[in-house]
Amino acid sequence: MGKEKVAIIGSGNWGSAIAKIAGTNASQQTDIFDASRIPMWVFEEEVNGKKLTEIINETHINEKYLPGITLPENIHATSDLDEVVKDATAFIFVLPHQFLGKAIESLKGKITPGSKGVTLIKGVDVSGDDIRIFAGTIEKELGISCSALSGANIADEGKSIRSISREVETKYFAAGKFSGMRIHGLTGLNEVAEIAPFFVKKRLSDTERRKMERCGGSCSIVEDVAGVSLCGALKKFALTGLKVHFYEDIVAVAAGFVDGLEWGDNAKAAIMRNGLLEMKHFCLEFFENVKAETFLQESAGVADLITSCIGGRNRKVAEAFVKTGKTFEDLEKELLNGQKLQGVATAKDINTFLKSKNRVEGYPLFEAVYQCAFEGRDVKTITKNL
Ligand code: NAD
Ligand code: 13P
Repeated sequence: MGKEKVAIIGSGNWGSAIAKIAGTNASQQTDIFDASRIPMWVFEEEVNGKKLTEIINETHINEKYLPGITLPENIHATSDLDEVVKDATAFIFVLPHQFLGKAIESLKGKITPGSKGVTLIKGVDVSGDDIRIFAGTIEKELGISCSALSGANIADEGKSIRSISREVETKYFAAGKFSGMRIHGLTGLNEVAEIAPFFVKKRLSDTERRKMERCGGSCSIVEDVAGVSLCGALKKFALTGLKVHFYEDIVAVAAGFVDGLEWGDNAKAAIMRNGLLEMKHFCLEFFENVKAETFLQESAGVADLITSCIGGRNRKVAEAFVKTGKTFEDLEKELLNGQKLQGVATAKDINTFLKSKNRVEGYPLFEAVYQCAFEGRDVKTITKNL
């Protein structure tokens, strides 16, 4: 079998952080990967009068979405999807979910048969009463196998990124183990709940695992693709919960509301607990093959919920929503410099889905987030019916 050629579809905050990991890992496992040039698809835009692709290729820094972090030199930014897909056999999908559909349309018919994918995209794909995780959408639309990677990871934890040792950077984000270590290293305390099999050709040695654990990370592979993906989606809700209503998840958004209302830590913990329960019930009610233990035991579950409710963008914007009275749309532009909020959109998607199933009342926190975000409901009433 030939060497894997990795391609990265996306180049935002998380996409750029993952490019750093993937580029480093691939170049350290050249028995597995052809790492000479890893294409990263960039939605072209001008930053200070210059094309973002040119900035990234000249400075190796994504000045707009992950400033201050140097990407490996084998990462090549391009706005041409045809160039990205050419010869690639392993795809990393990491773009805001609202842009995935268009990317899929452009990729159709161009992917080498037998290629593999892993999605890092949070959210769910809802169409009326049909709901699927994005790994499922990618498999269906592109005809490739697709795994999901998620965990308690926030790309912007720049302090952690810079403070981890070079050893961790080079060893733990090594190619075959790409996701696990890297992500741990990036965030310092997170775990990867699900890793695309092709990124984990080799299991960690005991020494590697101990070193990684000393840095606060751990790496695990779980078979529950749906559970992992859904944890992320719901967390978004939660985080975004502000308006969305699925907080995680709901909790996160909801958590941001609570911060905005200055209700304190006890209230925030209670919202997080309710959000986690709704996430779990939702997944078990509407998806097959979801394991209940994923929510408590895996990083994509409660750990990701916690980090998102503390340090995520959805939480931050939800807090500002309460404190300023501005719209989410305006706050996204004002506070995120081009990065995208997904919690609110997900809340809406989930609400549409729950309505189609006549099950809205079964998820009062999700409902509250949705109504606060879209129907002018008073944020102070989010605990009603919980
Ligand atoms: P981001 O929020 O930084 O989004 C901005 C990206 O969207 C940029 O690359 C921008 O060029 C692109 N974009 C803007 N308009 C576009 C358009 N019309 N078409 C296509 N692309 C367009 O993105 P991110 O943080 O990399 O998030 C990607 C996925 O990873 C999301 O699902 C997110 O939930 C998930 N995720 C993010 C983090 C994190 O810490 N940022 C952590 C875990 C998972
Ligand atoms: P935010 O999009 O709210 O920052 O969440 C990041 C995330 O998904 C961490 O897993």
